[in-house]
Amino acid sequence: MNATGKLYVVGTPIGNLSDITFRAVEILKLVDFIVCEDTRVTKILLDHYSVTKPFVVVNAQNESKKIEEILEKLGNGLLCALVSDAGTPSISDPGTRLVNAVIKNDFEIIGIPGPSAVTLALSISGLPTDSFVFEGFLPQKKGRQKKLLELSNIERTIVLYESTYRIEKLLSELKEFMPNRQLAIGRELTKKFEEVWRGTASEILNDLNKKIIKGEFVVIIAAKDFKM
Ligand code: SAM
Repeated sequence: MNATGKLYVVGTPIGNLSDITFRAVEILKLVDFIVCEDTRVTKILLDHYSVTKPFVVVNAQNESKKIEEILEKLGNGLLCALVSDAGTPSISDPGTRLVNAVIKNDFEIIGIPGPSAVTLALSISGLPTDSFVFEGFLPQKKGRQKKLLELSNIERTIVLYESTYRIEKLLSELKEFMPNRQLAIGRELTKKFEEVWRGTASEILNDLNKKIIKGEFVVIIAAKDFKM
């Protein structure tokens, strides 16, 4: 093990800024620099906890170049925290490539647990969670129907992420591909307008004209044979 630099992978809130561990704040205060997606988003969190640190911004465009830069800093003995815009890095968020590169270069990696929309939504879904399939975002166009068909045959609870723009479309597709399944949809969890919609896709769609459909969504789909 390379005894110098360390990478801390830090879970941060998915909405409510108070949802962060004491240890995560301590680590953000300890490290020499923070790797993030968008400085504007991360700065809101850091300002809330009076933390000021240099940033390295990593996104799909600059990832390879930035990974080299981060490895060099770790080689110089610096401590780094990786955060994403919300929740746990690497969970439908950037992070995996950096974590891999850090493993290959034999630096220590320490996970600092925190919120993730997938575990929070499962915990309040009332649906079986002993075994589940996390699919994240479905493909937007190519392969979407094929994936829905494949998921409709899975005998476990399924978790999907969805954005404002496609939630209604996804519900219509679930009505077609998995008509009788019980759903629990977490909207804007931990935020001011958080709510959970429960029922079949058809029931939720019928109710939708009474709902505000803006926000971020986690869709939990009960297994085929699940009965309430
Ligand atoms: N890394 C994050 C995590 O650990 O949950 C996920 C990031 S992913 C880019 C963003 C998606 O996660 C959103 O489109 C939504 O599906 C889900 N999500 C994040 N925050 C949420 C919240 N507060 N309520 C509901 N869904 C949320």
